[in-house]
Amino acid sequence: MNARLDRRLVTAGLGVTVAQLVTLWADHTPARLPVPLTCPGCGHPYSEKAPLCPTAAVVRPLLRRRRHETHPDVLAPLTPNQLLDLTGNRLSTALPAEVTR
Ligand SMILES: [Zn+2]
Repeated sequence: MNARLDRRLVTAGLGVTVAQLVTLWADHTPARLPVPLTCPGCGHPYSEKAPLCPTAAVVRPLLRRRRHETHPDVLAPLTPNQLLDLTGNRLSTALPAEVTR
């Protein structure tokens, strides 16, 4: 599978809502440890150089900036690992193997 931008992101463009960003983040980041070798949403192979798939790389800065726009409940669908990957400084897909596997 070729890792490319999620069609939902392309279609929504600049009009993307926070709820849509949350759904995309949930689909394109590991729900829990140990993290898979590839993105569950698009098959992007995780590596130290590319710990985010193309979709997650676009969604992360947008969602980090905009998550306060709406009720905090909008983040409820995210697992603890997805929330940490979003709001923390660490990315589970960039953590050393002994921590994540
Ligand atoms: Zn992905």
